Amino acid sequence: MGENWRKEYLRSLPAVDAVVTVYKRTHNGGTYPHTLLVQAVQEVVEQLRQQVLTSREEKDLLAVGLGTDEVAVRVATWLSQIEQPSLRRVINATGTVLHTNLGRAPLALAATEAMAQASRYCNLEMDLVQGTRGSRHAHVEKLLMQLTGAEAACVVNNNAAAVLLALNTLAAGKKVIVSRGELVEIGGSFRIPDVMAAGGAHLVEVGTTNKTHLDDYRRAVDEDTALLLKVHTSNYKVVGFTATVKMAEMVKLGQEVGLPVMEDIGSGLLLDLARYGLEKEPLVAERISAGVDVLTVSGDKLLGGPQAGIIVGKRVFVEQIKKNQLMRALRPDKVTLAALEATLRIYLTGHPLQQIPVLAMLSMSADTLRQRANMLAQSIRERAEGKLTVDVREDVSFVGGGAMPLTQLPTTVVAIRPTQVALQEYVERLRTGTPALVGRVQDDWLLLDPRTIRDTEEEEVILCLM
Ligand SMILES: *Cc1c(COP(=O)(O)O)cnc(C)c1O
Repeated sequence: MGENWRKEYLRSLPAVDAVVTVYKRTHNGGTYPHTLLVQAVQEVVEQLRQQVLTSREEKDLLAVGLGTDEVAVRVATWLSQIEQPSLRRVINATGTVLHTNLGRAPLALAATEAMAQASRYCNLEMDLVQGTRGSRHAHVEKLLMQLTGAEAACVVNNNAAAVLLALNTLAAGKKVIVSRGELVEIGGSFRIPDVMAAGGAHLVEVGTTNKTHLDDYRRAVDEDTALLLKVHTSNYKVVGFTATVKMAEMVKLGQEVGLPVMEDIGSGLLLDLARYGLEKEPLVAERISAGVDVLTVSGDKLLGGPQAGIIVGKRVFVEQIKKNQLMRALRPDKVTLAALEATLRIYLTGHPLQQIPVLAMLSMSADTLRQRANMLAQSIRERAEGKLTVDVREDVSFVGGGAMPLTQLPTTVVAIRPTQVALQEYVERLRTGTPALVGRVQDDWLLLDPRTIRDTEEEEVILCLM
C-alpha cells in the first residue's frame, strides 16, 4: 500500500507526442529527423520509467523533473550526445608507446596526409602508365623488398590474418611443426594453435617449454609435413636454462628435408634500437638474410605504421599466398595501404627516428624527458593556482603492444593531485573531456609521462588539466 507514490509518478510520465511537440516548439521546429526525435523521446521516457520502478523511496524521485518541459530538455541532451563521435582523439600520457587500447602506433604526419589523399579516387588497382589493371600490393611491395631484402611481399589486414593466410596457403590439410615453447597467445584472441586450426593446418608440437633442439624438429618430419614454423615469443620470455633453434639452422634443416620455413615475428622492427636501451628484438632484414621462406609482421607495432599484416619472403611462396581465395577476405583497403606506403618511404628516404612517432618516442633521451617533465610541471603549477599539487619524479615507460615485455625505459613523469576534488572524479573528467587525456594512476597520484605526449600536445594537456 505504501507504493502509491510510485503509481503516481508512473502516471505523471508525459506522453511521447506531448514531449515531441514541446521539443519542436522550443527548438525552432527541431532540426533532427522526426523518427529520430520520437526515438529520443521514447528512450528518455523509458529511462525515467525505469528510474521510477527501481527507486526505493519517494524522496529519491523528488529532484527528478517529469514535466513535459523538463523531459524535453533531457531529450535535447540525448540528441546532442548522439552527435559526439564514438571514436575520439586521446592524448596518451601513460608512457606506454604501443598502447593497444589506444590504437597502438600513432601515425607519422606523412602517413596521415597520404591517407587523406587516398581516401578520394586513387590508382589502387590501376597501372596509370599502362592504363591496365594493376595490383594493390604493388604500392608497397617494392619498398618492402628494398627495406628487408626479401624477394617479394604482400599485405593483409593485420598480422593475425597474415599468419592465417600463410598457414592456409602453405599447409592446409597438412602438418606444421612448432616448438612447445612458442605456442604463444597475444592479446587474448590470437593463439597459435587456434589460428593454425582456423587455417586448416595440423599442429605438431615438439620439444619442451624451455628447450627445443634441431633434432626435435627433424624427428617430427614425415610425409604429411608441409611446414616448419617458428613464432617469436613477443610478449613473454622464458629465462633460465633455455634452448631455441636459430633461424639459419632451421633454414638448413628445411633445405635438408625439402620443407619451407616460416616465422611469425610480430613486432616488425626495421631499425636496430639496441643502443636506445631496448631489448634485442629480431630485425626483419636479419631473418630474411638468414634465409627464412615466409615471414609475417605487424604494421602497427615497432614498425610504427597502420594496422596491417605484412608477408615477406621467397617469391614462389608469396605468389601462392597472393593467389589464395582468402586474400579477397583479408586484403587491406586503400587508406591503410597509403599510410603503410608513406611510413615505409620514411625508412627508405627520410629520418625514421624523427618522423615515425613510435621510434621518436622510444629513442627519446632521459635528459630530454627530464627537461620536458620539468617544464610541463612548471607551466601546470603556474596555471593551476593552487587547485593542483604538482610534483616531478623518476619513473619508467613501457614499449607495450606485447613487444619487449622486459624493457623498462627510464623517464621522468609529472605527478598531479587535485586539491579540491577527489582524484577519481578528476581522472574521470579528464578521460571524458575533449580531447580525452589518459594518464597512469598510482598511489593516489595521476602520473603524466612526457614520452607519449607529443610536444605539440603540451599546451592542450595544460588546458585539459585546468
Ligand atoms: C602481435 C603479434 C601477433 C598479432 O598481430 P596483429 O597485427 O595484432 O594481428 C601475432 N604474432 C605475434 C608473434 C605478435 O607479436
